[in-house]
Amino acid sequence: MKVLVTGGSGLIGRAIRYAVEQNPCADEEWIFVSSKEADLRDAKETKALFEKYKPTHVIHLAAEMGGMIRISQHNVEFLRNNFLINDNVLYNAYTTGVKKCITTLTSAIFPCEIQYPVDESNVHDGPPHESVSGYAWAKRMIDVQNLAYNKQHGCKFTSVVPINLFGPYDNFNLSDGNVMPALIHKAYLAKKKGESLPVWGSGSSRRQFMYSRDLGKLMVWAVKEYEEIDPIILAVGEEDEISIKEAVELVVEATEFKGEVAYDTTKSDGQFRKTCSNDKLRKYLPDFKFTPIKQALKDTCDWLAENYEEAR
Ligand code: GDP
Repeated sequence: MKVLVTGGSGLIGRAIRYAVEQNPCADEEWIFVSSKEADLRDAKETKALFEKYKPTHVIHLAAEMGGMIRISQHNVEFLRNNFLINDNVLYNAYTTGVKKCITTLTSAIFPCEIQYPVDESNVHDGPPHESVSGYAWAKRMIDVQNLAYNKQHGCKFTSVVPINLFGPYDNFNLSDGNVMPALIHKAYLAKKKGESLPVWGSGSSRRQFMYSRDLGKLMVWAVKEYEEIDPIILAVGEEDEISIKEAVELVVEATEFKGEVAYDTTKSDGQFRKTCSNDKLRKYLPDFKFTPIKQALKDTCDWLAENYEEAR
């Protein structure tokens, strides 16, 4: 098994690399590539990448990503670039006879007007939130592409849906990062400078958070064991959903921040909840143990403190 991982230097790619290093197998080769090696928007470069490595399996993580504000202002670029990347990768996976290709979707694809929790059957049920529509529609198209390649050519192309993630090698950018890495970074700076910790919104919104290294293990499982074409949500349970306020308290504890927390209610709370069901995952892996959030946060905060200069 020769697995090509696109987007290999990002949060999920690094977590897969960690999982593989923890549990090495002699008959497997893992190749992690980043955008430095090939611009996947370009058909020729993508073809050359597949010709160079000749993978038997692909985990396709590469995507044009960003926070809600940047996406909402650049929906055309998010739509175009992700269409191009996904079309090039899936087409080359097909033409070179890749045995299995797993692509990551995102919980932002789910319709915004829906009953929670959502599950895998809801992916195409109604329009996604208009603020992220370019990104979300491009991601939804992957499921359409996977089904088409399977029906017409018998390809085993599938997708997974991760939820809010955090962990080592995250994007800790303060204005364009997801909530957990942004909070961790803000707490780190507030502690260092003796300032208050600014939090956007009221803290009432609710989210499920998952440690990237747990997702890394699940991605390795998926490429080896998951045989369906239909997507699977890779998430902690609904019972693990917490408020942003509770997330802030956990970050404060993990970073030992002693100052004041300042909620900025002029900023948006975003969607109130995005709860995803992990029932399908639990049917496959009833005994999978997620890392307790306190431990995962402690590891991530320690990682940031130790790697601050190189962190994104
Ligand atoms: P994402 O984490 O950027 O994908 O954003 P979500 O739509 O999942 O929501 C993030 C939630 O966290 C919202 O309720 C925000 O108001 C809240 N939040 C608080 N502080 C921050 C922050 O520094 N960055 C981000 N992204 N969200 C924050």
